[in-house]
Amino acid sequence: MRMYDLIYTKKQGGALSPEQIAFWVNGAAEGSVPDEQSAALLMAICWRGMTTEETLALTLAMRDSGKRMDLSAVPGTKVDKHSTGGVGDKTTLILGPIVAACGVPCPMFSGRGLGHTGGTVDKFAAIPGLKVELTDAEFIRSLKETRFANSAPTGDIAPADKKLYALRDTTATVESIPLITASIMSKKLAGGADALVLDVKCGPTAFMKTLEDARTLAQSMVAVGTAHGMQIRALITRMDAPLGWAIGNALEVMESVEILRGEHGDSELAQMSFRLAAEMLIMGGAAKVLPEALAKVQASIRDGSALEALRRFVALNGGEAGALDDFSRLPQAGQTVDVRADRAGFVSAIDGRALGLLAMDLGAGRKDQKDVLDLGVGIRVHAAVGKRVEAGEVVFTAHTKKGYSLRPDAYLATLELEASRPAETPWLLDTIGC
Ligand code: URA
Repeated sequence: MRMYDLIYTKKQGGALSPEQIAFWVNGAAEGSVPDEQSAALLMAICWRGMTTEETLALTLAMRDSGKRMDLSAVPGTKVDKHSTGGVGDKTTLILGPIVAACGVPCPMFSGRGLGHTGGTVDKFAAIPGLKVELTDAEFIRSLKETRFANSAPTGDIAPADKKLYALRDTTATVESIPLITASIMSKKLAGGADALVLDVKCGPTAFMKTLEDARTLAQSMVAVGTAHGMQIRALITRMDAPLGWAIGNALEVMESVEILRGEHGDSELAQMSFRLAAEMLIMGGAAKVLPEALAKVQASIRDGSALEALRRFVALNGGEAGALDDFSRLPQAGQTVDVRADRAGFVSAIDGRALGLLAMDLGAGRKDQKDVLDLGVGIRVHAAVGKRVEAGEVVFTAHTKKGYSLRPDAYLATLELEASRPAETPWLLDTIGC
């Protein structure tokens, strides 16, 4: 088999066989296929696409490039959730403990942030002492004892994805539906959960900008999961502004805890997290229908068991659970700077991508995987889509290092203001799958 022939076939719009795909993926992971040939094939796939069979074969080959977690020692249906990524997306910190408190084991491997998007692992790292890279034994112990486990994936999970993702990142080949499907689903299948709820983000801040593309991606991931015997359902959710008031790692922990305490219950972030958690409860067999599942979610907030599940997870894995009750024990910024609106109007959009980049500039995110984060810095977003702001009103508070010189104009440029109140759009755009 020669890589040249695979590249040529795909360039001409042909389909690759499962054997050809496995030859490429294994070669890329081991280093026997040079990067330039992988890059050429990735670009040909971006242009020509892949059939459902090819996408399945690519997912399997990537999954089998490393180990698969065996979670059979943990009783019950194990349910995972994956979001395609956004700004201020801290739903995992909220729904993981809720699902665990309602009796369903929730194993999750999460990523670190890169560029304008945040990563769940970095948010958890803001809790002092919490171990965010668990060994297999620690992951399984956490799942058994607290019904929740969250860890950065070890290098042995889908190593081919690690290699190919880095190449995609530098060759403008990330935004391809079959490549995103295989990248996400190979890791999810290797992670060992029985069921998966997908949160496919759609809008200007997300990978999928249109509803049509978001539906195609959701259908593609659902097809792959179903073909491998996984229960899987996708929710397509709007992403045209940061999710919630907090951007930045310690701030996002605070907002998540506030929601687990029962505050901001009618916010979009809370509603979205509760709905995703409810879907997970149905898949895990803890509820039959949505109203019953939502009632269980609400009860876990009311009686404090969801927050207690987070405390137990943190304490078991070396973290200071007391910091969840006393936010002064979380990493703090050196100073806060308010940004005030320069005119009045109704907020019609907030550019989450630009705010994510501003937060990255403060030190909350990485420009490069080797960057060390400042876990205390970030942005509090006071403005919200649909809300009226007056000239001089505080719309953002930046939590920065001492002496950081802020450009308020860059913050104000992220706000779109209109004379009249914009029409309300729902956050849930569609659902796909079982
Ligand atoms: N997240 C992933 O893990 N892979 C992609 O290709 C896109 C988002």
